[in-house]
Amino acid sequence: MVPQRNASATQDRPTPAWTPGGPVVIAGGGIAGLTAALALARRGISSVLHERAEAFTEVGAGLQISPNAFRALDALGLGAAITAKGTAPEAVDLHGLDGRVLASIPLGEAAVTRWGAPYFVLHRADLIAILAEAAEAEPAITLVRGVAVEDFAEAPGGVTVSTTAGTVEGEALIAADGVWSRLRPRMPGPRSTARPTGKLAYRTLIPADAVAPPMRGDRVHAHLAPGAHVVRYPVLGGRFMNVVAVAASAWFVEDWASPAGVSEIEALSKDFDKPLRDLLLSAPKWTRWPLSTVDASGSWTAGRVALIGDAAHASLPFAAQGAALAIEDATVLAARLAGGPTVAKALAAYEEERRHRAVAVQKVSVRNGEIYHLSGIAAKTRNLTLSMLPRGALMEQLDWIYEWRLPA
Ligand SMILES: Cc1cc2nc3c(=O)[nH]c(=O)nc-3n(C[C@H](O)[C@H](O)[C@H](O)COP(=O)(O)OP(=O)(O)OC[C@H]3O[C@@H](n4cnc5c(N)ncnc54)[C@H](O)[C@@H]3O)c2cc1C
Repeated sequence: MVPQRNASATQDRPTPAWTPGGPVVIAGGGIAGLTAALALARRGISSVLHERAEAFTEVGAGLQISPNAFRALDALGLGAAITAKGTAPEAVDLHGLDGRVLASIPLGEAAVTRWGAPYFVLHRADLIAILAEAAEAEPAITLVRGVAVEDFAEAPGGVTVSTTAGTVEGEALIAADGVWSRLRPRMPGPRSTARPTGKLAYRTLIPADAVAPPMRGDRVHAHLAPGAHVVRYPVLGGRFMNVVAVAASAWFVEDWASPAGVSEIEALSKDFDKPLRDLLLSAPKWTRWPLSTVDASGSWTAGRVALIGDAAHASLPFAAQGAALAIEDATVLAARLAGGPTVAKALAAYEEERRHRAVAVQKVSVRNGEIYHLSGIAAKTRNLTLSMLPRGALMEQLDWIYEWRLPA
């Protein structure tokens, strides 16, 4: 595969506090890897990014970009593109089993006022396309498609990275190769491993004109049921509704998009109210995605190698923060690498700065899942508590997540 370099010039870029002897090698061109390449380039550090797939694509699904993630992407110059492609939902509505709204988290203008940046929902493929296009326009980034990173060895003054197309020398290696990272177990020292959670995410896109009018609109809806929940919101300019349903299942393969059978959707729909059940059963096809996590309290760096994004700390998606954390990681890592004084010290500083937050977000995700999936009297108590919360109470709980800014 021939590396592609861009012709356009980069002007007025800050230079790092030290002189890199070579590019940073990045394994993985998902949200973490592409954002890292851009964040490094914006700080005057070049990179070579290897993505094992032939194209920078994403399996069809939606993504919520909370204000912390939007702010970090905006600082990389991507705010306008996200605004153009995304939908800014008016609120997140939490529904009980009978469809009744138990509580709402105001978004829209309220998000900008409270957290200083907007909240968007968009298709993952749109975000990947925005990132890949910006990376392609960057002379400091070399994108290599269709090549997997297989291993690495640290050498004095650099790292030698083995790929399916040969070896590459770099100043550092960023492993952004996702929850089932191949590079994580190759790093020296004890590492967290990817652990199946016994939960599956079923995903589909339903054309908006096939959605019954009461179920349409520009809001995020989360429907809670015993042992399951459904999240739905508009994507692709409102032309489709993204629907994710989560339920317990022992089924597991390392894949994000295996087809799901109708009987599985029937089984998970049975407890929900009729309009939602009809919506779920109307979807043309579903895929399933086994949810695995990586304990964030493990170690993420070793010398010149660092894990970022899901490779470091894949969490349950019940706080909608996995991609947001990956984006934050990328911007912190780039800032610390630019500051030096050595690669190893910069990577250690990145890990030190990020671990506490990733652990805290993982805990919130687990807790949200427990609350969403309550049954019996516990679910009734939850519903009552949610419906009696004072306005703003749920927003307050999100402040520490959504107010995040890149520390100086
Ligand atoms: C159902 C669900 C809903 C979610 N919703 C949200 C949400 O609303 N908001 C949010 O912030 N997060 C959400 N998340 C989490 C989010 O999807 C992930 O945290 C995010 O995609 C992680 O990005 P990543 O780049 O770290 O990993 P990945 O997206 O897994 O990217 C890894 C990339 O590396 C490539 N790769 C793998 N191995 C190699 C190799 N050896 N060499 C080269 N390339 C390699 C892969 O092909 C892939 O492109 C959700 C997750 C799920 C499961």
